[in-house]
Amino acid sequence: MKNLEITRKISQGMYILTTQNGGCVVDAVSQISAGDNPLISVAVMKKNFTNELLHINDKFALSILDENVSGEIIKTFGFNSMRDLNKFEKTNVEDVDGVKIIKDSIGYMICEIIDRIENDTHTLFIGKLINAKKFNDKKEMTYGYYQEHKEDILKVKTESGETAWVCMACGYVYYGEELPDDFRCPVCQLGKEMFKKKED
Ligand code: FE
Repeated sequence: MKNLEITRKISQGMYILTTQNGGCVVDAVSQISAGDNPLISVAVMKKNFTNELLHINDKFALSILDENVSGEIIKTFGFNSMRDLNKFEKTNVEDVDGVKIIKDSIGYMICEIIDRIENDTHTLFIGKLINAKKFNDKKEMTYGYYQEHKEDILKVKTESGETAWVCMACGYVYYGEELPDDFRCPVCQLGKEMFKKKED
């Protein structure tokens, strides 16, 4: 886990990526060219349903989250799959260019997918920015801020005598006395050594 200690210090933001019929939380977003229609890259885990959709669809939107965003949005888009839950029904969204964007955000960027680069765990999707709107000047949430405040943002609570294990990478919570030895975070696939115990 030595490498994780340093790679987690790479500054990234917090976004909801949406595309036709799905979406998820992402942090690996970069602007990779200049001009009025810059290229934006985003890495999405291969096992995510959203990754499948991005191989069929031609567009994605990135809604930029602010530091006071409702934890429900992160839970809905980060810890669930559209295979089991209609994320859009639970969230205040608006249709822009055929993609649903998140209203409770700083604004959105709509990108047309121009390239897909596969690596072992993720696909890097490259999009050309075709439409964008800023809603407000709230402070954007960084991944580092999320790390520091995730238990408050997600309102992680334990009842008296109950034990919870919080994934230090993504904030996923497992309730139970002990984590099974072979436990892997269902969201980010990291092992049990990434979980911190929280008890009341
Ligand atoms: Fe995790």
